[in-house]
Amino acid sequence: MKQETKCIQAGYTPANGESRMIPIVQSTTFKYDTSEEMGKLFDLEKEGYFYTRLQNPTNDYVAKKIAALEGGTAAMLTASGQAASFYSVFNLAGAGDHVVSSAAIYGGTYNLFNVTMRRMGIEFTFVDPDCSEEELEAAFKENTKCVFGETIANPALTVFDIERFANAAHKHGVPLIVDNTFATPINCRPFEWGADIVTHSTTKYMDGHDMTVGGVIVDSGNFDWMAHKDKFPGLTEPDESYHGVTYAERFGQGGAYITKATSQLMRDLGSIQAPMNAYLLNAGLESLAVRMERHCANAQKVAEYLEAHEKVAWVNYPGLPSNKYYERAKKYMPNGTCGVISFGVKGGRPAAETFMSHLKVAMIATHVADAHTCVLHPASSTHRQMSDEELIAAGVGPDLVRLSVGIEHVDDILADLEQALAAI
Ligand SMILES: *Cc1c(COP(=O)(O)O)cnc(C)c1O
Repeated sequence: MKQETKCIQAGYTPANGESRMIPIVQSTTFKYDTSEEMGKLFDLEKEGYFYTRLQNPTNDYVAKKIAALEGGTAAMLTASGQAASFYSVFNLAGAGDHVVSSAAIYGGTYNLFNVTMRRMGIEFTFVDPDCSEEELEAAFKENTKCVFGETIANPALTVFDIERFANAAHKHGVPLIVDNTFATPINCRPFEWGADIVTHSTTKYMDGHDMTVGGVIVDSGNFDWMAHKDKFPGLTEPDESYHGVTYAERFGQGGAYITKATSQLMRDLGSIQAPMNAYLLNAGLESLAVRMERHCANAQKVAEYLEAHEKVAWVNYPGLPSNKYYERAKKYMPNGTCGVISFGVKGGRPAAETFMSHLKVAMIATHVADAHTCVLHPASSTHRQMSDEELIAAGVGPDLVRLSVGIEHVDDILADLEQALAAI
């Protein structure tokens, strides 16, 4: 099936007389005829559901659809993108381990790694995604367990060289995890470039309508855990909390990683996606392919318009030939990148504030990547505690405006920008 068809059909095929849409199994628990039967589920000897903290049928339909879209073998929904990022790494690394991460990642992920997960005893080395071979090589340590990067970084819009980082990770016997939120599997399939695990904040384009916070982790099934037995004892040695099951043996290369994440991390830490949210996410996914096409077409026109405007100082969009990442974006995302653009207005902070206050179609919101065009001025909102000097050092100058181009008619978006720029 093509991606467009998978968006609609993958993950759930109703049998004769069953509901056309996925059923919402709004139940915490599941009934069994005998204790023995239920016991088999607890021992991971049989597949099935017993408690929604670990697994729920509605979630699994949607996880299967996303696995199909990414070309993976298994997937798990999480309550948020943050939970997906956390579990994706914590499923492989614990206290005393080390992770190599691109420095160009979502701010929330950076805090999670650099502050919270460091407190858990995991060390991180952040590398410039465009660093030299020597720098990349030097980042790896004996105890490195995985590499992490973001296809198109939010908000820097850096395009990650997936193939290069996959090769480096594999040379050191560890998997590459890619946060594919901004590109979505419609525009980029990281597994085709060597990534082993993909994560998403489904809150963004996958849901696409500002309805639900959520995340997902997908396994390609390509990483051979048993070939690196000593590095990943959690997958290759018996789990005493599950009567000695060895995930990589029992569930194979395609199932071990997600089964461990479900049966250990979800069991102990929770943060599963609510079935109702999974249902709404599924409705969003049905139109993902057509929406992405429109997001990219609109954003391309808006970026070109802004680049030609006399009141605009600079524009950052990987779809512009003038962009540093244009060629790399063409390689990994030949059909388009995403709908998010950042740009600066001439006149710095006061000009940006005037511009923002005159927008009508583009709404001010701390959100990106959904159907509604929205806009954020970090210097006066999310980053308002910082001085102009600190903002520049963080790569978020006082003039920076982040514009998430929606799927309204592009003429209305352009007219809105025109009148707001005229007010400066
Ligand atoms: C928003 C976002 C996240 C975090 O997702 P939440 O659903 O907000 O928890 C992670 N990665 C990227 C790229 C994001 O844009």
